[in-house]
Amino acid sequence: MNGPHPFTVKLLAWYGEHARELPWRVDPKPYPTWLSEVILQQTRVDTGTAYWHRFMAAFPNVHSLASASAEDVMAQWKGLGYYSRARNLHAAAQAIVNQHKGELPQTAAGWQSLPGIGPYTAAAISSICYGEPVAVIDGNVQRVLSRLFDIDQPVDRKSGRVAIESAAQALVASKEPGISNQAWMELGALVCKPKNPNCAHCPLNSDCLSRRAGNALERPVKQPKKRPKEVAVHFEIRRRRVDSGPIEWWIERRPESGIWGGLESFPLAMSEEHLPSIPPPNAWGPVLHILTHMRMNAWFHFSEIEYTSTSIAEKNQGQWIAVEDGERTWPRLIDKVLSDLQRHAVKN
Ligand code: SF4
Repeated sequence: MNGPHPFTVKLLAWYGEHARELPWRVDPKPYPTWLSEVILQQTRVDTGTAYWHRFMAAFPNVHSLASASAEDVMAQWKGLGYYSRARNLHAAAQAIVNQHKGELPQTAAGWQSLPGIGPYTAAAISSICYGEPVAVIDGNVQRVLSRLFDIDQPVDRKSGRVAIESAAQALVASKEPGISNQAWMELGALVCKPKNPNCAHCPLNSDCLSRRAGNALERPVKQPKKRPKEVAVHFEIRRRRVDSGPIEWWIERRPESGIWGGLESFPLAMSEEHLPSIPPPNAWGPVLHILTHMRMNAWFHFSEIEYTSTSIAEKNQGQWIAVEDGERTWPRLIDKVLSDLQRHAVKN
């Protein structure tokens, strides 16, 4: 077999000197690597590292993760956002324990058969932990390669994807593919940054076609983004105080699928509409909350009067909770407005 591509040789020399020391990189094992890959998908490394330690302490192996309750997993994940990652992580751990006798897959194809594991995560784990020579393509790799080879096709279209994939696959080292994959990602994270590529210190600057053409900031090419959807969300707020106890709020668990799946929330209804010009009667708001794909105008409707007993019809699965009860797994939006709501509810 031929040796590594000359670009990869230069890259590995650079990586040997500049790789960050991250806890899951020391003697990489599949379970901690898997956790790190899932956590880091939409999270910065410094925040992600703290969560990784927290998760490893709470669920040190696939068995403890599989047998944990959904609430416990969500509680450890709270604050990281993109909660479907936590739900899939939990479901995949259960699939490994229940269907594969607790044995973690050893190939990218095996990993990809688990819930929520896409080609990126599968390739990362199998190349890093089992030496499978498959390319890992994340946002960093996409950016580096589209600049290095001056790829002018949109990377979120098939033509651009194919160009990136074939370049990435040609550059994977057959001997230590996990290290070369991590090195490409590291170059994107540390040097070939989105807005200010540090070309002067790049090990591939004499080879880079975009640098030569002066168009690095225009790579990668992406299709124009769709405007985020505008929605109104109406939360129903019920509050009570039993005797002289703390104020309690009626909280339900959201269905597993859809927005804020599996999290706690006030009961809510959602409609795809623009901001109403006249505020709904007896509602407090709107609070603007922006997610990647939607702009949400949240209204809070106080349906309660001062309940003094537990007689309220508790129609859905839910419970009365006091904010002081401990860490909750509700969306950030609720954290954001709760102190204002407490004041508002007391005034009512
Ligand atoms: Fe990125 Fe500049 Fe290196 Fe090209 S030379 S890969 S643009 S950092």
